[in-house]
Amino acid sequence: MRNAQNYQPRYDVVVVGARCAGASTAMLLARAGAKVLMVDRQKYGSDVVSTHALMRAGVIQLSRWGLLSKLMATGTPPVRRTAFHYGDEAVHIDVRPEHGVDFLCAPRRTALDSVLVDGAREAGVEVRHGVTVTDLQFGLDSRVTGVHLKNADGEMETIRAGIVIGADGRQSMIARRVGAHTYTRGTDSSGYVYGYFENLVDDGFHWYFEKNVAAGVIPTNGKHHCVFVGVHCDQFAGTFRRDLEGGFLKTAAANSPELRETLDTADLVGRLRGFSGGVGHIRQSHGPGWALVGDAGYFKDPLTAHGMTDAFRDAELLSRAVLDGRSLAFAHYQEERDVISKSFFEVTNDIAAFSWTMDEIKDHHGRLSHAMKVEASHVAAFSPITNLAA
Ligand SMILES: Cc1cc2nc3c(=O)[nH]c(=O)nc-3n(C[C@H](O)[C@H](O)[C@H](O)COP(=O)(O)OP(=O)(O)OC[C@H]3O[C@@H](n4cnc5c(N)ncnc54)[C@H](O)[C@@H]3O)c2cc1C
Repeated sequence: MRNAQNYQPRYDVVVVGARCAGASTAMLLARAGAKVLMVDRQKYGSDVVSTHALMRAGVIQLSRWGLLSKLMATGTPPVRRTAFHYGDEAVHIDVRPEHGVDFLCAPRRTALDSVLVDGAREAGVEVRHGVTVTDLQFGLDSRVTGVHLKNADGEMETIRAGIVIGADGRQSMIARRVGAHTYTRGTDSSGYVYGYFENLVDDGFHWYFEKNVAAGVIPTNGKHHCVFVGVHCDQFAGTFRRDLEGGFLKTAAANSPELRETLDTADLVGRLRGFSGGVGHIRQSHGPGWALVGDAGYFKDPLTAHGMTDAFRDAELLSRAVLDGRSLAFAHYQEERDVISKSFFEVTNDIAAFSWTMDEIKDHHGRLSHAMKVEASHVAAFSPITNLAA
């Protein structure tokens, strides 16, 4: 006969994935008094595919959580100007002070994810890297009751939890195992090639748009700029597969001859990296004993550079639901996420279609800017999360 104690969850929450969505959710829950284990199969401080740009709502969240100064102390440059290049036309915008934030930034993920994980650890989260969740444990009533883990030495362990949160990215294993229903799917996506360059002048974010192409220059840590070029995913293989560097330079030139010339004065650090695309999804994000956050539940094409910002927003929304505990609260989490995300999702899909004229892309950016303002006001108005013991 099994000891009744075995049925007690060892943790209130197990979070799978220790990056933007997972580490911030784990941190918020632990700060509120929950006993949290967070696991990730990758190493602490490891890199991940990203072009790094954080928008205002994301910076607001880091500031509210007391992590912004720590992030900036890693050498992340503040971004105070943004320029949109539409063919020959350039529109320059200064970042206005709003909601206590007067700059944006684009931290390397090695810096950002480490600051988030450190914040989680300081809040009391038990963090284990190099540990893979191989499967979920289900109760007789099909409720998720825990996770099966495998550590770097191949040792298996089963851990019971009150709730398992899948913050395990766009190809979420947790979503697959619980059969989370995808109720909205994008139709288009873009493919990117990007690299880190030295010796470019730091002049804020630059976003380039021309017929069938896009590009960006994004200042990040180490006095490096992340420079990306993008095309519709259908064009990815034809543009880059045979000659990655040639395709990169040609696409930069198609965006802007000036950008192409600037790259001649810069030095590529390391190698170019590619992302061949993936259509967006919005998934059912809660069920008995489980929830999804970040890309696991809601992913959109990276061309609007908004995945991390939305992950921080949803970490906060989900944490409130977990602390509340009622199924109504989880339903509210999903609904609130979807209401705020609808316009982002739609405009991102439109931009990723690469079928716009110059006037249409400007119009899409107007819609995007409006959605960002609404989101920033929403996030700035969040009340502090109450401690469980309060
Ligand atoms: C090319 C590209 C450029 C982008 N540029 C930007 C940008 O400029 N700005 C922006 O805001 N967003 C950008 N994004 C999107 C952004 O990267 C994501 O939205 C964000 O990383 C989502 O964070 P997450 O925590 O949900 O998931 P992820 O960052 O995907 O993290 C998931 C974690 O889960 C772990 N994991 C997965 N499965 C398991 C398992 N079974 N067991 C243990 N661990 C597991 C993984 O190791 C990983 O560390 C970009 C994305 C791409 C692809």
